[in-house]
Amino acid sequence: MKPHSGSKTKSRMENRLFNARSVLASMMLFVCSSCPLPAADFVVGADGKAKAVIAVNAEATVPEKNAVDLLAKYLGKVTGAEFAVVGENAVKADTPAIYVGQTKFAAGQGIDFSKLDREEWVIRSVGAGGVDALLISGGRPRGVLYGVLEFLEWQVGVHWFDPMTECIPSRPTLAVPPMNVRAKPAFAARGINPYVGYSKDNPKADLAPKSRAFWYAINKNCGLDSYDYITGDRETLKQFGGGEPFGSPSTAHNLFMYMPPDKYFDAHPEYYSLISGKRVRTTQICFSHPEVRAIFKQRLREYIKQDRVKANARSEAPPRFYVIMQQDTHPKIFCECEGCMKIFEREGANSGLLVDFVNDLARDIRNDYPDVTLVVFPYTSSIEPPRSLRLEENVAAWIGEYTGDSWRPLTHPHNKENLDLIRRWSAMSKITGTWDYSGTWQMGLRIPAPDIKPVAADIKTWHDLNGAIYKLNMSTPERRSFYWLDVWVALKMLDNPNQNPERLIDTYLQGYYGPAAPHLRKFIDYASETIAKSEEKIARNELYSLRWRQCYDLPFLNLEYYTRLGEFLDAAEKACPGQDGYARAVRRERLMVDRAVLMHWDWLAAKNKDLPFNREKIVQRFSANGAEWFNWYWESGFVLGGGSMSFDWPRRNLIETEASAFSEYGRKRELPEAFGGIASGDMIDFAWPEFAFDRPAEIQPDAAAFGGKAYHSKVNAYSARWGDQHQGLPSIRIGLNRHYSFPSLSSTWQEISIPRKDLPEDGKYHWYHVGAVPGYDHDTMLRIIGQVGKTAALPFSSLCRPGLENVPHKVYVSMRTENMNPDKAEKGKPELLAIDRVLFVKSAAAGKVDRGTAEGRLSETWDFETEDEALPEGWEVKKSGNPVIGITRQDPGRSNRSLKIEVVEQDKYAAVDSAPLEITAGRTYCLTAKYFAASYTFAPKVYIYFFDAEGKRLEPAASTANCSIKGNWNEIKLQGQAPQEAVAVKARFHSPAKNVGLVYFDEKGYRESSCPSIGRW
Ligand SMILES: [Zn+2]
Repeated sequence: MKPHSGSKTKSRMENRLFNARSVLASMMLFVCSSCPLPAADFVVGADGKAKAVIAVNAEATVPEKNAVDLLAKYLGKVTGAEFAVVGENAVKADTPAIYVGQTKFAAGQGIDFSKLDREEWVIRSVGAGGVDALLISGGRPRGVLYGVLEFLEWQVGVHWFDPMTECIPSRPTLAVPPMNVRAKPAFAARGINPYVGYSKDNPKADLAPKSRAFWYAINKNCGLDSYDYITGDRETLKQFGGGEPFGSPSTAHNLFMYMPPDKYFDAHPEYYSLISGKRVRTTQICFSHPEVRAIFKQRLREYIKQDRVKANARSEAPPRFYVIMQQDTHPKIFCECEGCMKIFEREGANSGLLVDFVNDLARDIRNDYPDVTLVVFPYTSSIEPPRSLRLEENVAAWIGEYTGDSWRPLTHPHNKENLDLIRRWSAMSKITGTWDYSGTWQMGLRIPAPDIKPVAADIKTWHDLNGAIYKLNMSTPERRSFYWLDVWVALKMLDNPNQNPERLIDTYLQGYYGPAAPHLRKFIDYASETIAKSEEKIARNELYSLRWRQCYDLPFLNLEYYTRLGEFLDAAEKACPGQDGYARAVRRERLMVDRAVLMHWDWLAAKNKDLPFNREKIVQRFSANGAEWFNWYWESGFVLGGGSMSFDWPRRNLIETEASAFSEYGRKRELPEAFGGIASGDMIDFAWPEFAFDRPAEIQPDAAAFGGKAYHSKVNAYSARWGDQHQGLPSIRIGLNRHYSFPSLSSTWQEISIPRKDLPEDGKYHWYHVGAVPGYDHDTMLRIIGQVGKTAALPFSSLCRPGLENVPHKVYVSMRTENMNPDKAEKGKPELLAIDRVLFVKSAAAGKVDRGTAEGRLSETWDFETEDEALPEGWEVKKSGNPVIGITRQDPGRSNRSLKIEVVEQDKYAAVDSAPLEITAGRTYCLTAKYFAASYTFAPKVYIYFFDAEGKRLEPAASTANCSIKGNWNEIKLQGQAPQEAVAVKARFHSPAKNVGLVYFDEKGYRESSCPSIGRW
């Protein structure tokens, strides 16, 4: 193994001197004070000649041998000398030696290897009979390697700053001060997820996993997931002592892996959650049931045994941490059975059920497996700690707390509640940990600033709160300022949280940016101070932000900010005028600032009369720097962005597509005829340049499309299932969503549903009226469901559109499809759903749209995560007696929830009227709904009624239909023509008074036309 040498930037750091003693002082966990240290420095090499040999023992393991090779190789690179590696018995009496490994020499110095932990290392200077020696030893499997790395990084000055860059100082004369240190990484399980990808198209793709795994190994990123996921190359990682993967069956959401509902639910529904009086197979387990606990105890023992057999066969250390984590659904109470409710009421929190359960498992295994720690993962509905329970000593609380402000440390007042909550967990746990996401936005704009300062501070805070497990996701290297600086400094802090992160930042800047370092230091300090000074609370992370912020919600991202950053970058570029790695690294930071300016353009232009930027020049520079950055990865076998091996988006498009989008954006456009009467200020016009940002690879050339390109969502046809590929496939649903407004992961405002048989497939684009949104903002996106195995998402999130948050808009989508209509599809051809344009028209102006061109079905599901399960806004209940009416998770239709109407008394009735939907008089409307009539003799009914402008019902009902009673989900369909005075339509779901019974409804929707082939779609 050798580090990747694609880089021409091997930095020379002649002038960098390490204050070795003070670095070591901060690392010291144990110093043997009884052994006197030699008085003089240990001379490794002088004037380019080796002055010491490297001595090894015959029984060294593979990782220890590799550590020795690493030491010899890099001492050679630094000093220019060649270092001999000899057996320790062959060291001559008068030769200074570095003894590496579990050597006899080290044992002779009193080091007891059996007392050293897996990653614990010792470095000690020894003055033996007038001849100096240095020993580097450690535990197995990684202690010796970590000792060597400690020596190379902090005594010699070698650093591996990213998977493509190693930094090697030139020190022909190299001496190290006397030392005696023993330490190990502060977090036993630590890992930063890799965000450097592969593509099978890259001719050097087979190199990439190896060099990435090597980079992770030598930066002590021991990983938390399976080896394969974290590095893409288990074998390479193993060569360097492996990692710290979690035990079987998985790292997250694994209750159903322990106890699959398919295996147990039918015979034992009581093993699963009781919700609203019914056992549900899709939420959580029944935590208090003794048989459930017995199953888990047995399975846990099986998993541990299997893992040990496997680890033994692979000569790896077995896993020590076993996660038991709730399923990823968020019911208010996990299980409402008597046993669970008793615990819930005592502990006042769902976490009480989890902790009580896992404590029981922990007591069961602790005598047989004293080295195993079970891990509970409190998050979302279990984040609140239990009132009285403490975690057993062999249980860790791995806390997923995601609601704070990640651009500030946990100790900042913005994060007070978050830190208090973590403290409460810490007070009841011997071991804690976090799975964190550093502060970024997944889509659209990222703040052009490094976020390592809060991350570094938080690592220290967690360490002080018994932290032993730390997982950090740092995604989107292609969109984040100072990406590898963030990753590298975080890794060093995970190793030793007590060091000063500012010194690590300096080390990185000097090594990575050379003469530009002082200017980038100013950039970082200015950006950090500006953010620190601002009052704004900034979203916690990319997964669960409080709410996606508007880019213009952050007033500090203003002209002054971008101007100052530009000045620092100008000075940095001037300091390294060449084409070397330093210059490229500086241009890469320019890329991030340019991108932010381009995305912010409208906002900046609205705020500043004469914007002192040349847009065209910035676009050109963005394009050139982006291509350079991408190519640098590509030439080393990597792909910029991406994650694991299978993640093969052609990321090249990211830069190319964005650059062309930035240059296209804002050009004047022709409007389609139907929209001819609308003023440009009354609409937002999105074509490919504006929806190019989330998944740019899906913007494709398309001759039929407006502007020659369109968003393409392609799904391969699978020949094996072609026969029924289009049978029973759902309609295509196009919905308007708010993106990730946690805890409501998806809330659909409105959607249309188009049966596949209605798709024209004539090669042309057609307009569809999707519905209305209460306002346009950063969160808005289209979600397209119905393609096999795919939910496509088309966000419009990247460009600032200030001032429209509370202005209602109607939304029109221009779409075409291929091979999705079963009557027209060509066998074996991929399905294509293409969108070339989306128009948001202010509702006040939408009357001018010729609606004849915009056809579609407006519909509602109940798939939102309301707290109180109330009816949607505007719905009305009519009833006699006390029927049960509400949105429920029981027997849902295709969405997670449905509308439930249950009449429990004879001769009583219940009806629910939907909110009025605005319609056009004279047109025909088709209503469809899914229903499930569970226990009726007389059929429930559905009506549609039209209303005039005063809200008066126009009698009689336009149409009514009976639900047949079949004991499964069916569709009902009815239609009517709107009378001349009609302005709105409502649906009524009605349960008749003649009997008692239960009916569920889901997916109500209207189509502005007669129902296609009524009765049979
Ligand atoms: Zn229960």
